[in-house]
Amino acid sequence: MFAEVAFPISNFQSFTYVIPKELKNEIQLGSRVLAPFGKRNCQGMVLGIKSTTSYSGKTKSIHSLVDDIPVVTPELWKLICWMSNYYMTPIGQVAKIVFPKNLSTRYKPAKRWYVESSSFVKGDLYLSLEKRAPKQFEIYNIIQSSNYPIKVSSLKEFVSNPLQACRSLERQGFVKLEERMSLPDSSGFSFEPMHKKVVFNEDQEKAVKNIKQSLNKDNFSPILLHGVTGSGKTEIYISAVRHCLSLKRTAIILLPEISLTPQIAGRFKSVFGNSIALWHSRLSKSQRAWTWNQICKGSFQVVIGARSAIFAPLKKLGLIVIDEEQEASFRQDSPAPRYHARDVALVRAKYEGAVAILSSATPSLESYHNYLTKKIHYLHLPKRYGKATYPIVHLVDMLQNQEESGKYDQVISGLLQDKIEERLTNKEQVILLQNRRGFSPVIRCKDCGAISKCPYCNVTTSFHLKTNNIMCHFCGHTETKENKVCYDCGSSHLLYSGTGTQKVESLMKKTYPSASIGRLDIDTSSKGEQLTSILKSFNKGKIDILLGTQMIAKGLDFPNATLVGIINADLGLHLPDFRVGERIFQLIYQASGRSGRRDKQGEVVIQTFSPENPVIKKASTLNMMEYYKIALKEREELNYPPFSWLSKIEISGTNQDKAYNLSKELHHKIKGEYNGLEILGPAPCYIEKLRNQFRFHIVFKSIKTLDPNGKRLHQFLKLNFNDINKRFKVGGNRVNIHIDPLSLI
Ligand code: ADP
Ligand code: ZN
Ligand code: ZN
Repeated sequence: MFAEVAFPISNFQSFTYVIPKELKNEIQLGSRVLAPFGKRNCQGMVLGIKSTTSYSGKTKSIHSLVDDIPVVTPELWKLICWMSNYYMTPIGQVAKIVFPKNLSTRYKPAKRWYVESSSFVKGDLYLSLEKRAPKQFEIYNIIQSSNYPIKVSSLKEFVSNPLQACRSLERQGFVKLEERMSLPDSSGFSFEPMHKKVVFNEDQEKAVKNIKQSLNKDNFSPILLHGVTGSGKTEIYISAVRHCLSLKRTAIILLPEISLTPQIAGRFKSVFGNSIALWHSRLSKSQRAWTWNQICKGSFQVVIGARSAIFAPLKKLGLIVIDEEQEASFRQDSPAPRYHARDVALVRAKYEGAVAILSSATPSLESYHNYLTKKIHYLHLPKRYGKATYPIVHLVDMLQNQEESGKYDQVISGLLQDKIEERLTNKEQVILLQNRRGFSPVIRCKDCGAISKCPYCNVTTSFHLKTNNIMCHFCGHTETKENKVCYDCGSSHLLYSGTGTQKVESLMKKTYPSASIGRLDIDTSSKGEQLTSILKSFNKGKIDILLGTQMIAKGLDFPNATLVGIINADLGLHLPDFRVGERIFQLIYQASGRSGRRDKQGEVVIQTFSPENPVIKKASTLNMMEYYKIALKEREELNYPPFSWLSKIEISGTNQDKAYNLSKELHHKIKGEYNGLEILGPAPCYIEKLRNQFRFHIVFKSIKTLDPNGKRLHQFLKLNFNDINKRFKVGGNRVNIHIDPLSLI
């Protein structure tokens, strides 16, 4: 017997080896083996087993087996091969992002004691406990009032040695102690488990029934779950996962950025406990390796995480849920493979015969269009759960507002200010969205009028108050405020204008000195613990006003937040990208969805300078269908996705002329054009210079009516650009191919 073995060191190219007799029954597809490669034995993966070989040279023999179980499933390997082909990326590069760096690890998670009460003991023993051991009596009452096991260490505030006290209680038959593994979830990220009594409403019932039926069929089944904000989508995922597990299959839940959705992770943990693995970028290398191995061994049945969790090596995968499927963070843009986890999820579900649920209150136009054209099954939750109703939305015309008040640098309108005061008096909470971090995002020279831009990127730089620095948000380049001068004329007379989250924060502090304010943006939440602690404080009512960038707009569920203020709805509206309208609509709609999620009526104040803009207008009436109709019509007229397939070649280099000449040369050599293909460029990208690289692109659009499954475009790209990196890396220029890019900026 022979095995095809791929080695990470050689870009996963595969080689043929003889399987020694003693390993014949043990080697399987996906096994890790040691085999002679060059002068040493190297670790490789078995990707094929066959009885003959066409290789005529001398075949060496596999040395030994590394693990007792395979570390990749055949379906997952098929997915890696598909990605390599579809995204035109060498297989080694794909495998690199799929597998943890080093699968061998000595790491073992710590263990923690948990305690729960035994069936209720009344009578003398209980009564005498109060007298005999008042401390034990006290903690027993706490343990007994909880419906689920609690961490022994959490009882520290009541007794100095809680484990000893619990042991004593256990001896008397009051409680049960259990040692559990504390799984690597970088604890700061997840909320404490949230236990809830779940009663489905009619719409939920219907959706769940439908999903269960699909799961029972054991076939690939893509579903769009469209549920308005607060309709209870999380409970539906939980019910779907439970059913999936009962069928002895496994599940993956993809969240846009796991550190931003600790509530959902917490909710899942409370239901599925230790059968869940959390998978996200902040796990350490060894935690990753350990988690991967445990998944291979079958210790976890559910993996919940950010985009790369789609590669979890679960066997018998039955369900993939993609929460907030429209989110741009599911797309990896750099490094290659430049993939979209939602699209990869659909392909994986197909290979596994699984159900894929794309879920959102504001689906991507692609998914929505797939529903209109009946390519995806559609489930709708049109109402909020329980008594919660939709918020009342006020649109404020800031231009008119400023003219009337005579204050031209006004950030908060009179209306929003009144509404905030009202909430503070009523002890309700406020969420403010300003989708720009820093203090002043615009720095203008008073002498020549030039706007300060990063010397390495052609974008404006922002002033940060806390660090007293001027910073580029693209490359991180910083200058101190003292030394800052105008790049054009050298003047130090600079005007710091524009509004970032830090400015809003200091304004709020001045206006409402007694209110407690929390700010969430990349600057305050680079550490997971910080982020969770702000969210927890807001949840407990210790923060009155939560202020932040788009990270506060979605997924969060705070019962007492009844006002959402969108300080400048127009941010980004005028960028030249075909998806801009969709993004801003979704942001406003999702942010508004944080308001009034329980019995109290919610309100939203949207401030804009463009009240007539269709995006703002439709978002302010929360009319999704209407906006999607307009947006789809526009896309159709301009041949943008979902009406065409889109790809681009990006050419970049430190020398502007050389990079431009190369893009012209590439363009000139293009062959194999066909009817339905549109080629745009070469042209400078909108952000012409990024991290000291000049950028140009050539864009390809292939109209779907003439190229229904995208095959023609793919063939055309293969013909022209297959090993583009090998051929064009010369002269310091880089050429990258982007299949289905999200943005043309
Ligand atoms: P969405 O994700 O759709 O915005 P959530 O899943 O956060 O909505 O649900 C909104 C709130 O309603 C949450 O607090 C959730 O726990 C609660 N909820 C939803 N469905 C149920 C249910 N069937 N039983 C009990 N509570 C529910
Ligand atoms: Zn100047
Ligand atoms: Zn920069």
